[in-house]
Amino acid sequence: MSMEGKVALVTGGSRGIGRAVCLELARRGAAVAVNYAGNAQAALETVQACQAMGAQAECFQADVASPAACEELVQAVKERFGRLDILVNNAGVTRDGLLMTAKEEDFDAVLDTNLKGAYFCMKAASKLMIRQRYGRIINMSSVVGLRGNPGQTGYAASKAGILGLTRAAAKELAARNITVNAVAPGFIETDMTASLPEKARQAMLDTIPMARPGQAGEVARAVAFFGEEEGAYITGQVLCVDGGMAV
Ligand code: NAP
Repeated sequence: MSMEGKVALVTGGSRGIGRAVCLELARRGAAVAVNYAGNAQAALETVQACQAMGAQAECFQADVASPAACEELVQAVKERFGRLDILVNNAGVTRDGLLMTAKEEDFDAVLDTNLKGAYFCMKAASKLMIRQRYGRIINMSSVVGLRGNPGQTGYAASKAGILGLTRAAAKELAARNITVNAVAPGFIETDMTASLPEKARQAMLDTIPMARPGQAGEVARAVAFFGEEEGAYITGQVLCVDGGMAV
């Protein structure tokens, strides 16, 4: 397993699953571009942890909900590292609420970051990857995108949308030696799930056959698999990392 000489961009790499992905890719020898939206201190900590493993790493602030920012982000990574081999579209937000009362602005915010963010980063990155005739794109979906969840209609739509995006782009880019896959985590212990009320947390835990929450590092290793040579002939797939939740 080696990612020596490869350059990876991880959106939302400052915290949670994204940070674990940055560390896993750095451990395998990749140079890592750590994107974040607002939490510069957390992004810096991720960068320092990657560098402590001997990897090149740098922070890149960009709000992926902005198409122009996605384009600039990919260009900035190209200018700093010379190429882009692995794109991990991980940045994501939740704005939970019941269908009857949820606000349009919450739906838009979730779709803009989770779905359009991935779309615009893929659009910019695929231009470089086509020229390189090499690329690995990994999109973060969710078990909620496969199974649904009450109070998360917008979030579920964004994560189901990621699967369509992944499959269509996989077919479009396959002949250029670019694979596009999705990882669908279940219930992973991060800031995102820590904010859940205890009742909702327990209800989700009760649906996990393995009877425990997942750790960010467990998701990161699945992401890394798609980025490695071992995954070279796999495209358009979704891998659940969920202790059996989606079965
Ligand atoms: P988290 O702990 O809340 O971290 C979210 C990350 O996304 C942060 O690095 C944040 O940056 C970044 N981010 C948010 N909005 C952004 C934007 N507009 N532009 C750029 N970056 C942005 O979340 P997590 O639990 O690690 O989740 C990571 C991904 O996995 C998400 O796509 C989530 O939907 C998915 N997922 C999580 C779970 C779970 O159980 N945790 C389950 C299934 C799927 P800042 O630090 O700058 O705010």
